[in-house]
Amino acid sequence: MIQRSIATWQDLSWQEELELLVKTPKQLLDLLELGDDLLPAAERAHAVFPLRVTRSFIARMEKGNSNDPLLRQVLPLHEELDNTASYSNDPLNEIHFNATKGIVHKYHGRVLIVAASHCAINCRYCFRRTFDYSGNRMNKMDWQHVFDYVRTHDELSEVILSGGDPLGLPDSTLQWLITQLDDIPHIERIRVHTRFPIVLPKRVSENLVRIFTSSRLQPVWVIHCNHPQEIDSEVSKAMHSAATAGITLLNQSVLLRGVNDAAPTLVELSNKLFRNRVLPYYLHLLDRVTGAQHFDLPEAEVKKIYAKAQASLSGYLLPKLVKEVPGEPAKRIVA
Ligand code: SF4
Repeated sequence: MIQRSIATWQDLSWQEELELLVKTPKQLLDLLELGDDLLPAAERAHAVFPLRVTRSFIARMEKGNSNDPLLRQVLPLHEELDNTASYSNDPLNEIHFNATKGIVHKYHGRVLIVAASHCAINCRYCFRRTFDYSGNRMNKMDWQHVFDYVRTHDELSEVILSGGDPLGLPDSTLQWLITQLDDIPHIERIRVHTRFPIVLPKRVSENLVRIFTSSRLQPVWVIHCNHPQEIDSEVSKAMHSAATAGITLLNQSVLLRGVNDAAPTLVELSNKLFRNRVLPYYLHLLDRVTGAQHFDLPEAEVKKIYAKAQASLSGYLLPKLVKEVPGEPAKRIVA
């Protein structure tokens, strides 16, 4: 257990900072000097889907502002407990595509591996809020089955490590995984879906970058950043070091009411991402997961916001506006 005070969390290793995650609403509200008005509801919603957030991410929030766009992504609210019929625990029907332990295979040519069961933060709108991580936790033999699956599906050219957040795995495990996948001739690319470079940027160490750039597989990191305020100097440093070493960096965001539902915010986000070597890739409509209904926006409103952003951005800085429809062969382009 880490005994150092929060005042020195900046000096901790990434593993130590993970041990010091803020995991209770009381702790979070106190750190942000927000008083206890929001506490009872936050505790009720936290009992359904626990709060989890890094000190580094909290440091980018504005004290005393309960509407801070970063805070809204992680603070449990009473709205999460409202019952809304058209939302479900598995809005993307992933259970249907999760027939083999550790594998979600939806699309032609690429397969997703549930490599980790936790994230550095819990995003309140996450479509995997209730994913069966314990049923997908793998031992060495399970991993062997995963590699066999990838090896026998020679139509695959890309493996996606997801979760949970795969960059929460130790370097030694990531090195082992990449070595195994490198040995499968038809695999060309390794893609990682991760929020670590944003929420715990010190995770992007020289060794991590070396692990991803030392194999024959082309590395792609799809980071997840929703608001320009998430990018500070540490995040910028992490992005530059990964990009300079040869890792392709793409960003996916989710359009969220009360977080980034304004064209100027999206424009600033795209510009700031590109300034930091990241190409905006997808802007997702919210997946209708139970507990996230208060983040949703009508599609017509989303299209208006998007059209305004489009008018201010070079084409290559405009992320594709997409939604996922279970059973379709690719994400559906909305605009
Ligand atoms: S980082 Fe991604 S997988 Fe993890 S809680 Fe957030 S949205 Fe979900």
